[in-house]
Amino acid sequence: MSEAIKLFQYNTLSALMAGLYGGTLTVGELLEHGDLGIGTLDSIDGELIVLDGKAYQAKGSDGVPTVVEVSPDVKVPYAAVVPHQAEVIFRQRYAMTDKELAERIESYYDGVNLFRSIKIHGHFAKMHVRMIPRSTPDTKFAEVATRQPEYTQENISGTIVGIWTPEMFHGVSVAGYHLHFISDDHTFGGHVMDYIIDEGIVEVGPVDQLDQRFPVQDRKYLFAKFNMNELKEDIEKSE
Ligand SMILES: [Zn+2]
Repeated sequence: MSEAIKLFQYNTLSALMAGLYGGTLTVGELLEHGDLGIGTLDSIDGELIVLDGKAYQAKGSDGVPTVVEVSPDVKVPYAAVVPHQAEVIFRQRYAMTDKELAERIESYYDGVNLFRSIKIHGHFAKMHVRMIPRSTPDTKFAEVATRQPEYTQENISGTIVGIWTPEMFHGVSVAGYHLHFISDDHTFGGHVMDYIIDEGIVEVGPVDQLDQRFPVQDRKYLFAKFNMNELKEDIEKSE
């Protein structure tokens, strides 16, 4: 039997929502657990994109979208990575919206109760992304989320990476797709809002286990008082 594929999730979305933006895990350590994934950076400074074992940061706060490679010593407050292994691979030969492609992808799932890794390389007629802007813990995530810079590029080639989460794990992660994009030339990227794909290769990977890690030495996390009702509302609003 082949080795179990573990989705490595560092920290929780709830902690992020509650304002715990400080990075506590290095990117170097994160990359030991997977080669594809998503996340954010210290002080929620943009979107983390993990593609083919490398980590990139997409930012857009200064009015210009930028992408830079992240060095191994940079710390992240939240990320999810997986050693992606395509189980279903198909070619999308004609244009589709993100909603249509999502339906096609889901038609290959065995039920709806397992996480999946998603990788889509292709050419996009439209790619609409956003980037969470750097912030301090005194501003709530839901509030920061209302003023995220958004950018749209047309006719762009690149890769979408991310995770699909089953409904019953909503809260631990966001139910449904959490996808980030990076262009082939590494100049444009971010958290995927919507897109139109012209054509591309879609890969769906299995996840056998969830390896949920916690910032066990972070006093802020340990003694944080979470208002669960408020957190649930904030997750609905922000994601
Ligand atoms: Zn995201």
